[in-house]
Amino acid sequence: MSYPIIRLKRGKEGSVDRFHPWIFSGAIEPVKEPIEEGEIVTILSHDGRVIGTGHYQIGSIVVRVLDFSDTPIDAEFFRSRLQQALRMRQALGLIRPDNDTFRLVHGEGDYLPGLVVDIYGDTAVMQAHSPGMHFARDIIAQELVDLDIAKNVYYKSETTLPYKAHLDPVNDYIIGGGNPGQNIALENGLRFHVDWLRGQKTGFFIDQRDNRELLRRYSLGRKVLNMFCYTGGFSVYALAGGAEKVVSVDSSERAIQLTTENCKLNTENCSLNTENHSAEAIDAFKYLDKMEQGEFDLIVLDPPAFAKHRSAIPNATRGYQRLNAAAIAKIAPGGILFTFSCSQAISREQFRLAVFSAAAQTRRRVRILHQLTQPADHPINIYHPEGEYLKGLVLYIE
Ligand code: SAH
Repeated sequence: MSYPIIRLKRGKEGSVDRFHPWIFSGAIEPVKEPIEEGEIVTILSHDGRVIGTGHYQIGSIVVRVLDFSDTPIDAEFFRSRLQQALRMRQALGLIRPDNDTFRLVHGEGDYLPGLVVDIYGDTAVMQAHSPGMHFARDIIAQELVDLDIAKNVYYKSETTLPYKAHLDPVNDYIIGGGNPGQNIALENGLRFHVDWLRGQKTGFFIDQRDNRELLRRYSLGRKVLNMFCYTGGFSVYALAGGAEKVVSVDSSERAIQLTTENCKLNTENCSLNTENHSAEAIDAFKYLDKMEQGEFDLIVLDPPAFAKHRSAIPNATRGYQRLNAAAIAKIAPGGILFTFSCSQAISREQFRLAVFSAAAQTRRRVRILHQLTQPADHPINIYHPEGEYLKGLVLYIE
């Protein structure tokens, strides 16, 4: 198989030799023949050694390396990668009668840069973040079905593909179909409506699964505030854990509706008491402002990414600080705060520093009980530290 060639500049081989899967535009020699967006390319060192095969893209990351050798990128390649991903999720014990929801492919973490696949029972929801993966979508979808991983494959790339690439990023089923409103995800025995057609990301935030499970263990008899509830994941777990009351808050009316529906959905299978639940569509800061001192003794803060880019870090840090200070100031003595940042641009240290500043501002005694991260089905390739994004702290506040 011969692919167009990308040759690195002299001395720019280091990161590829260290298995980093991204090649930046400044590292390559000018291309002789024009290469199309999304084409498969062979990567050569300056002196002509083959050092990898990847997807070409016009932009700052010019190649996403799929393999550090001279490998054909065909159906067999994707089959093998998907099999490895599946084997790992089996080893993690995520495929069980009471759990059919998990991330099968987490981009670079599964050696498939640019691709995300989430599994909800019979359906795989696939997102391409690179033109190369967009062009490979039909092959990947077919392999997902042939490997018996899914019966339906929904492709959802309208918001994830680089718009400059002028692709045709349809959102539609590639294989099979489904009935919106009837898709139920099963997670640790709890049930959730998942709307991959209209929802954020692939419809559900699978990445908080382990953290929700931890919250369940702390919920007995507590008064819980779930701030930024979206589909109500933390609310359902809190109720299942025996919370005395749960209030879910989100600025989106649709999110409040979804949360209310998801609480109802679990009344039968785990006798969850929805009378203890209420929900309000309101801005987080407004709610924290009006809430009474000591009204809650367990608070979850899981905001959207405040920093989408490095340039937004200072503002984002101030946002985290303000939000956490408001919650720490008002939580009841002996209260537990689950606080998160999903901004990739904010490091673990920066987030902890923001929460530290918030705590100091309130002058309360605060201890760290747990330091949380993304779950094992969102693995971090050790050569690609950028894959780490979710950070959380569980605090005990006196
Ligand atoms: N905790 C959720 C995921 C949160 S996603 C889960 O486990 O599934 C972030 C949510 O924050 C979105 O639903 C969005 O509507 C909401 N949001 C964004 N800005 C907000 C604000 N200023 N006040 C309240 N909610 C907000």
